[in-house]
Amino acid sequence: MPRTIIVSNRLPTKVQRTDDGLTFQPSEGGLATGLGSIYRQDGNVWVGWPGLFLEDATEEQYITEALGADSMAPVFLTEAEIQDYYEGFSNSTLWPTFHYFPQFATYEPAHWAAYVAVNEKFCQAVLAQAGPGDTIWVHDYQLLLLPAMLRAARPEATIGFFLHIPFPSYELLRVLPWRTELLQGLLGADLIGFHTFGYMRHFLSAVTHLLGHATTNGLIETPTRTVLVDAFPMGIDYERFVEAAAADEAVEHEEVYRQALGTSRVVLSIDRLDYTKGIAQRLLAFELLLLRYPEWVSQVSLIMVVVPSRDQVPQYAALKQEIDELVGRINSQYRTIGWNPIHYFYRSFPLEELASLYRLAEVALVTPMRDGMNLVAKEYVASKADGRGVLILSERAGAARELSDALLINPTDLVGHAEALHQALVMPAEEQAQRLEAMRALVKRYNVFSWTRLFMDQLTYSKIKQHTLA
Ligand code: UDP
Repeated sequence: MPRTIIVSNRLPTKVQRTDDGLTFQPSEGGLATGLGSIYRQDGNVWVGWPGLFLEDATEEQYITEALGADSMAPVFLTEAEIQDYYEGFSNSTLWPTFHYFPQFATYEPAHWAAYVAVNEKFCQAVLAQAGPGDTIWVHDYQLLLLPAMLRAARPEATIGFFLHIPFPSYELLRVLPWRTELLQGLLGADLIGFHTFGYMRHFLSAVTHLLGHATTNGLIETPTRTVLVDAFPMGIDYERFVEAAAADEAVEHEEVYRQALGTSRVVLSIDRLDYTKGIAQRLLAFELLLLRYPEWVSQVSLIMVVVPSRDQVPQYAALKQEIDELVGRINSQYRTIGWNPIHYFYRSFPLEELASLYRLAEVALVTPMRDGMNLVAKEYVASKADGRGVLILSERAGAARELSDALLINPTDLVGHAEALHQALVMPAEEQAQRLEAMRALVKRYNVFSWTRLFMDQLTYSKIKQHTLA
């Protein structure tokens, strides 16, 4: 029976070395949940890096066996590989370029060489699992070369690829010295999925410009095969967030926060530390709100969660400092003994606590400069069962294509941003309910399980289409 193999940089389980030995922790992420039903089925497997460096061969064997019992196959990477392939090419070349921050991109031939070598390593790990007719689903920007490597070794395999970040305009992609190799790497797949039609159009345009292949209705004709391209906006595990927000624990936590905040209205902001998320612009917009509408002073607080991320990279360290300074400046200027404009947390919260923050927030401020999708926006919507709450969303987040009932803003337009905040704070209850209802229906329907199903069905269809065209 054909098997399905999922491949991503990280496994859905994180292995850590602690004083008590090795620990195995399931990842909470949406991808792990959405694909859980697939990789845990008989014979299927998830291939990826377990998140730690090994000390010896005994450890390797122990981890391989433990993960193997839970349908996972680890790819072990060295510290140097993580440095050059992951921190280097993936996060310092592809990430800034694909998010429209070319000024932060580096172009190091050594990083590229490591990226090729690690994609090869992943290829060998997948081949050790895969038979000729198996289905392989590759995920994200760390593995752009893998589809073509797999195709060369397994011409008959069914190969899908999904990109979780934006695909940029051709004008950005063309700056990369390795642009042609990257596109050719992707074209080893039978189906290439993106979050939005916009990203898909950029990809098709790049393929036409750089490789000269004809494309019609999302079908690319390469000299040897056809490749299907389509948009699959990723969803969340809707019921999980509905349940978490309705749980006694979330209600009790909300009550504790509410007591501490008094009568203050609450605006919520949650992201990883990243220059793509527009965190500094958001703080400036909040400050502008207090300046333009002094009636909100001492009446509204911003709860800002920033999850530590990549803080060894210089741009991230600089951003952290910029945020610290902005928060300090705004708080010291406006605070009173009984009121704090910004409650700033530089740490991560478990889902149960996020649920109480989602409950508490009258406004969610999700304003990235660029974001492939942004799941926080969808989680907030799912958590608002009582129909109260306003989502302010950047038009440059993938989620804006679906959540058009949010207040959509351009994050570089500080005045528009501050005005949207005011509008959200005075929005009548009826309008809040109407907007939320439309968005909740959509987030419920296009959840992470339907996303998985749609992708897998379309992957099957791409093979049928190839055979009918042949
Ligand atoms: N998240 C979390 N704890 C936190 C903050 C965020 O578990 O303290 C989760 C959040 O629920 C969401 C994810 O992190 O599922 C962030 O996903 P998103 O698509 O918004 O951004 P990314 O970090 O993938 O760029």
